[in-house]
Amino acid sequence: MTTSREDLLHAGLAPDTLTVAAGRPPREHDAPVNAPIVLSTTYHETRAPVQGDRVYARGSNPTWDPFEEALGALEGAGLPALVFGSGLGAAAAALSLVPTGGAVVMPRHAYAGSLSLAADLAAQGRFELRTVDVADTAGVIEELSALAARFDAGQVMLWLESPTNPMLEVAELAVLTEAAHATGAIVVADNTFNTPIVHRPLASGVDVVLHSVTKWLAGHSDVVLGALVTTDPALRERLLAHRTLHGAIAGPFEVWLALRGLRTLALRMERSQATAASLAHRLVDHPGVRRVRYPGLPSDPGHARAASQFDGFGGIVSIELDDVETADALVASVRLWLPATSLGGVESLIERRRRQPAEPKTVPEALVRLSVGIENPEDLWADLDKALRHASGRYPTNTTTGTTDTTEVPAR
Ligand SMILES: *Cc1c(COP(=O)(O)O)cnc(C)c1O
Repeated sequence: MTTSREDLLHAGLAPDTLTVAAGRPPREHDAPVNAPIVLSTTYHETRAPVQGDRVYARGSNPTWDPFEEALGALEGAGLPALVFGSGLGAAAAALSLVPTGGAVVMPRHAYAGSLSLAADLAAQGRFELRTVDVADTAGVIEELSALAARFDAGQVMLWLESPTNPMLEVAELAVLTEAAHATGAIVVADNTFNTPIVHRPLASGVDVVLHSVTKWLAGHSDVVLGALVTTDPALRERLLAHRTLHGAIAGPFEVWLALRGLRTLALRMERSQATAASLAHRLVDHPGVRRVRYPGLPSDPGHARAASQFDGFGGIVSIELDDVETADALVASVRLWLPATSLGGVESLIERRRRQPAEPKTVPEALVRLSVGIENPEDLWADLDKALRHASGRYPTNTTTGTTDTTEVPAR
């Protein structure tokens, strides 16, 4: 007997179970329990192809199917996801849903790449781009109403990202989605930071969910991939047609790795979130840190919203230091944290975001984003604490040996 796609999608299993159980090959005697990697670019035709046949590997690959089933199930879509060659490839497909001459509303602190892509399309005259403070619910609704007066239904897209990268602002997803739909706008939510373990935006009525699979979902900093998920079969058809025609497809090996990574998503998130929370609480009291942004901190402006909407607070913490020099010195001083861009891998990464030219200018220059991995929390803290003291001059270097004098670390 086989376990069909529908069985899993409708079984009401918890997300952590779905990460393991969804996207398995049929239960047949001697069949493999993990999907194989299929590298063929073309498929046998023993009759004239009909709608849905594979035919050619730009349109379909058997290695995509289990990953798309698993992610679709995790987001509660009732339909398989669509995997793309990168998160931005998926973003380009999502933005293609906006008709020429329409408008897109984006958080002013959305992921810099999404903002750059939308700005590029706007400069080409594809659509008008408006940016908003996504945490300011009334402000976003005001913008949507203003656009509704100038555009027809279906011409406007509200692009949500929550929490935002790297400012960690939290949007009221259900409220904003309802308001957007009332004006006839379509809603996309970038769920990269939360992952379906923490939040499933389709349940808030969002039309399309976007993932940079590169980050938490694949989780090992070794594949670049993206995905879109929707509950609407007609929208999925349009997005699939865009993927096939524009060609932003994923390599089979990358998708196989992503499914392998997805199997441990719940465990990785559990660990990263627990460590992120513990680091955030300790960083608040650190003399070298001006401000800590983490939705899990009761003092954080997004805390109440995150607590009421999400099943967790994520694995990203952003800190503000005194100035750029201190921030750069921190990144240069860590020994365990890896100074690198990206996020969501098993290894903890640290980056001053404004070093990227595309980063919005309203992101503080001295903001450092921490992507918390799964290493021992005390090792991560010790390294960060030491590097912070060193960077902020509160932890003098031994002048005779040139080494950092660990005896001067005050007890914590
Ligand atoms: C990285 C990222 C993207 C872009 O994904 P790529 O896989 O790098 O193309 C989109 N959104 C967010 C929030 C991201 O962090």
